[in-house]
Amino acid sequence: MANKITFIGAGNMASAIIGGLIDSGVEPSTITATAPNDSELAAIKQRLGINTDTDNNAAVAEADVVVLAVKPQIMRNVCEALRDSIQQQQPLVISIAAGLYADTIDQWLGGHNAMVRCMPNTPSLVGYGASGLYANAKVSDAQREIATQLMEAVGIVEWVEEEALLDAVTAVSGSAPAYFFLMFEAMEEAAVKLGLPAATARRLAIQTALGAATMAQQSDKDPATLKQNVMSPGGTTERAIHHMEEAQLRTTIADAMQACADRAQAMA
Ligand code: NAD
Repeated sequence: MANKITFIGAGNMASAIIGGLIDSGVEPSTITATAPNDSELAAIKQRLGINTDTDNNAAVAEADVVVLAVKPQIMRNVCEALRDSIQQQQPLVISIAAGLYADTIDQWLGGHNAMVRCMPNTPSLVGYGASGLYANAKVSDAQREIATQLMEAVGIVEWVEEEALLDAVTAVSGSAPAYFFLMFEAMEEAAVKLGLPAATARRLAIQTALGAATMAQQSDKDPATLKQNVMSPGGTTERAIHHMEEAQLRTTIADAMQACADRAQAMA
């Protein structure tokens, strides 16, 4: 990526993406990150070797790509203060903020911008992210490619062609790490009741999830078939799965994801 990229915000998400970009061969000198706090910037500069700036406008002045990586609550103020620089520079703008429409951010930045909205998730922090991306009509194919490369630095990327579908992305990946953490919690509690030490149970449950995810990713079989393959008739797994189906686990998951998507829509 031979572009100059500026990150507005140098926190968890920005530093994870920047770390991923550098690991994938992007030259640190092409990356700038901003934050109001000098000591936060000194740490990221020392760790990643990138440029830093406390002045957002100065950092945008030569950027081809601007990634908005501040908290949603301060996004409006940050964008309005950047409006003139963005209008002059016309970079590709990528927002990773939860719950803010591309159009809203575009308006705060003065309008007519090439905007990508990204819904990442927390496993991006360890390089196993899953991001949904949406581009407005101003975004060129080359800019889409840049956004893809950027988020692929911390995981996988899927594009949606309607922004409303990012609510579904929120339900299936944005919020979903917590669903699996709940599963780990529940499995650990149940295994302790069955007599295992908590640490043993936790380790086994987490490794099993990693193994199942890796199998599902590498196999050409769908999850239903993989599940069936573990269930011998009359066996232990069949008994457990039967119990989950009887307890309407599927309906619970569907209802939870609907509630999540509804909430995402209401918050935007
Ligand atoms: P964070 O608090 O770690 O980072 C925010 C950064 O913004 C900090 O570096 C802070 O110094 C900087 N900042 C504050 N005011 C600023 C200003 N005026 N100008 C420039 N920088 C300023 O937050 P995070 O977890 O990295 O989240 C960033 C964005 O990513 C949020 O909008 C959030 O909704 C989104 N997001 C995060 C996650 C996640 O897993 N952390 C997941 C999905 C979406």
